[in-house]
Amino acid sequence: MSTGKGLIFLGPPGSGKGTQAQELSQELHIPHISTGEMLREAIAKQTPLGQQAQAYVDKGELVPDELLLGLIEERLNEEDAQKGWILDGFPRNVAQAEFLDKLLHKLAKFSEQAINLEVPDDVIIDRLLARGRKDDNEQTIRRRLEVYREKTQPVLDYYRQQDRLSSVDGNRQLPEVTQSLKTVVA
Ligand code: AMP
Repeated sequence: MSTGKGLIFLGPPGSGKGTQAQELSQELHIPHISTGEMLREAIAKQTPLGQQAQAYVDKGELVPDELLLGLIEERLNEEDAQKGWILDGFPRNVAQAEFLDKLLHKLAKFSEQAINLEVPDDVIIDRLLARGRKDDNEQTIRRRLEVYREKTQPVLDYYRQQDRLSSVDGNRQLPEVTQSLKTVVA
């Protein structure tokens, strides 16, 4: 039986996924789970995961799946994630999407929905340059967009083929995007 709502936020870096996930997480009282944030924390603390992940994050490459899959499984099994969650930054490739499906099948209580935030490339680059995170320099941004096209765009097709993908125009003022998202997930 489905008792919780799992929302999967897709969209390129700089599409506003993180900001919107944060907003919706507060409104819906479900946790915002960002793998990028988890990795940045692990790097800041220099945990074994952080040490292994750092070079990939700095270069804008995907961190190898085997470093992340156990982490996401643990996180989704935590107490606060039992009524729902918003995933931001995961899955980033088709193997991760398949892993997530298997995991959710085991947990067997979620109806998941994937949402693509659509934003044109030129807007994305301007937004990322304005954000100023360590991996927001021009070279890394360019690589992250390439990685997005190569590895993450097939994830959109994966969900689209299963009729589980909605799209929202992310190139609008923040509250308008939030409003559309709320309509889509209602
Ligand atoms: P984000 O905050 O989502 O933009 O992620 C920042 C960086 O963390 C990415 O450029 C990747 O290096 C890494 N990362 C985040 N999520 C994943 C994931 N699901 N798979 C692999 N690498 C990830």
